[in-house]
Amino acid sequence: MTRLSLNRRDFLRGAAGAWAAAAAGERILPAEDAAPSAPRASRAPPEDRRLVLVIFGGGTRSSETIDDPDHRYVPRLWKEMVPRGTLWTNVRVEGAVVHPNSNASIKTGHWEYEDLDWSKPPRHPTVFEIVRKARRLPDTAAWSFVYASILAKTGESTAEGFGPAWAANVVEPPTIPRSTDEEMDRIAREAAATGSADAELRAAARCAELARSTAHIATDGLRSDAARRWLDERFRAWRGAAGPENLTTSHDAFLANLAVDCMKRFSPHVVSVDFGEIDCAHYGSWSRYVDAIRRTDELTWRLWRAVEDLPDYRGRTLMLVLPDHGRQLDEPGKMGFIHHSDFYTGEGADEGCRRVWLLAVGPGAIAGKRVDRPLPITSAAATGLAFLGLSASAGAAAALGVGSRAWGVRGGPIVELRHPLLPTPYSPPLTASPAARARR
Ligand SMILES: [Zn+2]
Repeated sequence: MTRLSLNRRDFLRGAAGAWAAAAAGERILPAEDAAPSAPRASRAPPEDRRLVLVIFGGGTRSSETIDDPDHRYVPRLWKEMVPRGTLWTNVRVEGAVVHPNSNASIKTGHWEYEDLDWSKPPRHPTVFEIVRKARRLPDTAAWSFVYASILAKTGESTAEGFGPAWAANVVEPPTIPRSTDEEMDRIAREAAATGSADAELRAAARCAELARSTAHIATDGLRSDAARRWLDERFRAWRGAAGPENLTTSHDAFLANLAVDCMKRFSPHVVSVDFGEIDCAHYGSWSRYVDAIRRTDELTWRLWRAVEDLPDYRGRTLMLVLPDHGRQLDEPGKMGFIHHSDFYTGEGADEGCRRVWLLAVGPGAIAGKRVDRPLPITSAAATGLAFLGLSASAGAAAALGVGSRAWGVRGGPIVELRHPLLPTPYSPPLTASPAARARR
C-alpha cells in the first residue's frame, strides 16, 4: 500500500515514545405482548425497512468488551444497547483471522478470500447488491464506510448477475502523501526531544492541521455523480474545520460522522460502518487499544442514536453490531492483545481470536435476551437480509434462527421492545493470566 493512513501515523506518534513501528443460534421469539410503554409500534413493510451493520473492528477481544465484568471500555454498548437488543455471545470466526476475510464474509454469508487476494471483490453477492437488485434501488441506497483500503472491494462481488451495477458506494478515510508523513514525523520527533508535554501537544495540533491541508480522499468506490458530489462537499467541510475539537484525525470518527450525514441525505436501505482503529493494538500499546475500544463504543452509540432520531430509520431499522474477529489470549509473559494469529498458517488462532459476539437491536430483536450457543459469524448477512424480507445467496450461513414470523416478514407484527432487562453477569473473562489482571 502506498497510501499512508492518518491514524497509523497517530498511533506511532502517540505510543509513549515507542517509535518502533511494527508495523446454532436460538430463535428470536416474537413477544406475546408489547409493554404498555413500548415507544413505537412499527409496521413498516419489509421494503421500507433499513439495515445498519456496524463492524466493531478491527480485531476486538471479548475480554475487553462483553466479558469484562465492569464493561469499562464499552459503557454505551453495555448500558444503553445490550438491554435493548439480543446478544449472541459465542459467534465463531471459523476462517482465517484477518480483517478483509472476516469483513467480507460478514457481508456475503460465505467465507471469502481463501486466496488472500484483497485487490478483488469477494466471490458471493454482498448484502448491498442483493438489496439493490431485489428492490431496483439506485446506488445511493447502499453505502459502505470502511476504515482502510484493504476493505475497498467489499462493497461488491464478482458473482454472476451482481457486481458494480448493484454495488455499494464505498467511502474510505482520507489519506496523506508520503511527504506529509515524513514532515509529521520530523515535527513529532523534535517535540519529543524537548521533553515538554506542551510542545508535544502543539506538535500534535500542527500535525493534524498539516494532515488536513494535504489529505486526499479516494473516490474510486463511488458509483454516481450524486455520490461524488456529496463526498466532495463533506470532505471539503472536514478539511476546513477549525477549532481544537476538530483537530482529531480519527478515521473512525470521520466514518461515523459521514455515515450519519449520509443517512440524513440519502436515507440508504443498507449502511455498513466498518470501524478499525482498535487494530492499533498491533503497535503494542494497551492504553491505545482500550482507548480505541471506548471510541468505537461511543461512535456505535452515535449511530444508534441517529437510527432513533431519523424518521426514515426510527422503528424500522435493524442494527447488527459485531467485531470482525478477536485477538489472541494472554499467556504468561505474553500480551495476546497485540496480534490476531498468523493468517498464512493459522498459528495462534485461539479462542481470543475466534470467539466474538453479535448484538441485534431494533424491531424483532427481543430486548435483554442473551444467547450462548455457538453460531458462525457468516450468519450476519442472512440475518440482516431476512429482516428486509430477502435471502442471502445459495449456500450462505442461515439467519440467526430468525423465523419470518419473528421479523414480521409475512405481514405479522414486528415485535417491539418488551421490557429492558438488567444485564446478567457474564461468565469469567477469557483472559485470567497475571499479566491481564495486572493491567486492570
Ligand atoms: Zn489487525
